[in-house]
Amino acid sequence: MIPQIEIDKNKCATPYECKKCLQICPQAIFAVAPTKVERFKETAPEDYEVQAVFKDKCVLCMDCIKVCPTGAIKIKVGGS
Ligand code: SF4
Ligand code: SF4
Repeated sequence: MIPQIEIDKNKCATPYECKKCLQICPQAIFAVAPTKVERFKETAPEDYEVQAVFKDKCVLCMDCIKVCPTGAIKIKVGGS
């Protein structure tokens, strides 16, 4: 069963600067990706978001939830 990993974008306001979940995850499932890309322009730090890219690799250690300073990450397993 692949866990559902949700990141509340309102709580995770500065992922480009934080990245704590990316650093702690033993499975490296998270990535920070730009939400908008404009040609010839650097993407502003607020225009990035954390994405759970490799959800299927999650081992449910919950370290990301513990480390997240804003409580932005929620993980649900199964139908609950
Ligand atoms: S629970 Fe563990 S393995 Fe799963 S995303 Fe969080 S840190 Fe990574
Ligand atoms: S640890 Fe929390 S606040 Fe920091 S980048 Fe990850 S989801 Fe966002």
